[in-house]
Formats: sequence, structure tokens, C-alpha cells
Amino acid sequence: NLTDRLVDTFKNLRGKGKLSPADVDGTVREIRRALLDADVSLDVVKDFTSKVRERALGDEVSKALNPAQQVVQIVNDELVAILGGEARRIQFSKNPPTVIMLAGLQGAGKTTLAGKLAKWLAKENHTPLLVAADLQRPNAVTQLKVVGEQAGVPVFAPEPGNVGAEDAAPSRGFFGGTVGNPVKVAKDAMKFARDKQYDVVIVDTAGRLGVDQELMKQAADIRKAIDPDEVFFVIDAMIGQDAVATAKAFQEGVDFTAVVLTKLDGDARGGAALSVASVTGRPIIFASTGEGLDDFEPFYPDRMASRILDLGDILTLIEQAQGAFDEEEARKTAEKFATDSFTLDDFLKQMQQLKNMGSIKNMLGMLPGAKGMRQQLENFDESEITRTEAIIQSMTMQERRQPKVLNGSRRVRIARGSGTTVTEVNALVNRFEQAAKMMKTVAKGGVPQVPGMGPI
Ligand code: GDP
Ligand code: MG
Repeated sequence: NLTDRLVDTFKNLRGKGKLSPADVDGTVREIRRALLDADVSLDVVKDFTSKVRERALGDEVSKALNPAQQVVQIVNDELVAILGGEARRIQFSKNPPTVIMLAGLQGAGKTTLAGKLAKWLAKENHTPLLVAADLQRPNAVTQLKVVGEQAGVPVFAPEPGNVGAEDAAPSRGFFGGTVGNPVKVAKDAMKFARDKQYDVVIVDTAGRLGVDQELMKQAADIRKAIDPDEVFFVIDAMIGQDAVATAKAFQEGVDFTAVVLTKLDGDARGGAALSVASVTGRPIIFASTGEGLDDFEPFYPDRMASRILDLGDILTLIEQAQGAFDEEEARKTAEKFATDSFTLDDFLKQMQQLKNMGSIKNMLGMLPGAKGMRQQLENFDESEITRTEAIIQSMTMQERRQPKVLNGSRRVRIARGSGTTVTEVNALVNRFEQAAKMMKTVAKGGVPQVPGMGPI
């Protein structure tokens, strides 16, 4: 798998004082494959790897203390740069309302995002208004109303018989517009928002299943009519190789100020992010990570770079691990993780080895996606290793190999034998099971959670 491949390449580079062009080519080849596997478009990959190759053969690497590490650093830096460097923020207008228009294909997640943005902005003490300018699908307006209600934000929508409903409760009111013409609805909504002093207007628009001239024209017309401060191009991270063509079409047809990547809770490694950012030169501003209104975060380029490389700080982790125990041992452990034959005995051995390599907390904190694990580890300090040793040493060989046999009476016996409590024995067994499960996922090259995404 990919992580293994990169780790292997990295190992080959380790210990070399100087990198030859052949060394660099080998690494670049693996990076190229990693990016293609992550669905980055071929042109972008070519561009990217040639830049990396050039830098890798240059002075900064040949003069570095550890050239291999330097190459990996360059790869990471270049990824982050393409993804926009710093996290981008919404640019609010000096003359409210700030107008944010959403554009993208049908199913990309625009309407859901409208709700997420509205809820988030309301929490930040803004007074957002949602505008239903998607009149394409029969259900689109209703869907936005539902989302608005969940977010506690009013929706301006074309409603026959509900025109000019000024006296509707502002927290959940549906205000009138003009049925049938999205441009007119958007314009009416602007006037309404100014009159009622909403400070942010979020305009949901129609999408089609594929890129389509009529759709582009409609979105462009809406844009022209309301002159938004921000146009967010919303794109599904799962779209893969189609990302480039879609993004280009929207850039030409409507143009946008930033990109929102949705469905990052899925399997997509996020290559679409790199392709879109690289091809359009527009920053990615938010990441959507689920169907719920709170599943939404600012986009962090550095974390996304780790996700695309499927690497996290795993290289650092492996390097540290190699300093403490030999490669053969490390490989065996990784194999055990992957094949589920990791036992409490191995756990004990590992912990003893870990004593000479700094805090366990830091080490596990480096694993990609180990966020939940890290929290777990907050109350896991090294002085516990001694007690852990005592507990495991009080177990029979069978118990160490198959912790499943540890019933109540066995746990009492072990607690007594080790001078600890049953609670401590339970805690250890739970921790072991969790560690084994997580390490297994990581060893297989998977990502236990959405890495790279923190809370807002
Ligand atoms: P629109 O056509 O662009 O307005 O897309 P919708 O907002 O209607 O979303 C299409 C589908 O994708 C709906 O079923 C949403 O619940 C779902 N969806 C939207 N954003 C996300 C996300 O970040 N993760 C997941 N898993 N589903 C999402
Ligand atoms: Mg929609």
C-alpha cells in the first residue's frame, strides 16, 4: 500500500549523506504514484513533481543534515503552498450585507453548506439570511427551508401566497419573492436584507448533474445581478478526476473567490482539493465533513497535505521508532498490527522499549487521525508503565495472547497478583484493545478518522 511504499522509499534514502539524481527520481516516482492514487489530475501531478525534483536536486537538499527528510519536507511545503498556504477566512464587506453566493453541480452539497454556514455565522453573532435561488428542482426550496429551520435562520423564498410575509417570526420566517425567476428572487432578497438589516446573505443556487450552459448562464446572471462579495464553488471531494474539468468550467462560466470541499468524511483522499486549487489558483476555504449542520470546518492546507500524502507525521514516527528498536523488530510489530496477532505480551515489550524514546503521548500524537486516541492518552503517563508491567506479568500466557478470556474472576486474580485494582486491569485491557485496533488501521494504510480537520 501507499504508506508502505513511501516509507520504504524513505528508508532507502535514510543514512545517505548525499542524494544522487537516481535517489531523487525514485522518491519522486513514489510521490507521483501517491498523488495519482489520491486522484490528483495528471497535469497537476506532472507540474508538482517536476518542481519537487528541481528543488530536491538543489542546494538546500545537498547541504541539509538529513537530505531524505529535507525532500519529504519539500514535498509537504509545496503541497501546502498549492493548497493556499494559510487558512483563508470569509472576507466580510465593509458595507453589510456581505453577500455569499454558492455555486456547483447538483448534489455537491450547496444547500447543506448554506445551512452550515448560516448556523455557524449566527453563532458568531452575525444575522444571516438564506436565499432560495434554486428553483430548478421541485424540492429545492423546501430543502433550504428545512435546513434554515434547523439552523434557526430565516429563509427568503418564492412562496405563492406567502409574499411579503413581513410579520413572520424572524427566527424562522419564510419571506416572499418571485416564483420562477431565480435572478429576480436573488435581487428581491438583497433589497429585503438591506431593509431588514441582515448582515450576511447566503444565496443557494441550482446545480445540474453535469456542466451545462444553461446552468452556467443562470449562475452568471445571478452573480451579475447581486454582485456578491464571495462566490464559493462547492465541490464533492469524491468527484476525483472530474474535479479539474468541473472547476475550470465554473471558473470560466461564473468564476468564484474560494472553494468549499464537501464529503471529506468519505474515503476520498482529497486529490480533488489539490487539483482544483492548483488549476484555478483559488484557495479552499471550508471543508464539509458530514450531513449534519455542525460537520463543517475551516480548511487547513497543512492538514490536507498530510491527508493527500496519507502520511501524517508517520515518517517522523518511524524514524524515532527506528532509533529505539531495530528495523526488524519494527517490521514484525507492524505486521502483527496489520494481521491482528498483536498480543498483550507484545504490548508489554513495546512499552518497555518505548521507555527510551520519549513520551508515549508524543509518539502516538504523531499518528495521523489519532485525535481520539490522543485524548485517551491524556491520562496515560509513563509512570504507569511499571504498573502495566506488573499487571501483564500477572497474566498467564493464554491471557496475554487472548485477552478475550479475561472474565471477572480472572481480573480479580490479576489485580491481586499485581497489587493493583480491577479497575486498573480493566483500563489496561480496554486501552490495549483500542491501541491494537487503531494501530491495525494505521498499519494497513487506512485513516481512522478525518485527519487534518480540527474543530472550528
Ligand atoms: P446540492 O444539490 O449541491 O444543494 O447538494 P445537497 O446540499 O442537497 O447535498 C446532496 C447530498 O449530499 C445530501 O444528501 C446531503 O446530505 C449530502 N451531503 C452534503 N454535504 C455532505 C458532506 O459533507 N458529507 C456527507 N457525507 N454528505 C453530505
Ligand atoms: Mg441544493
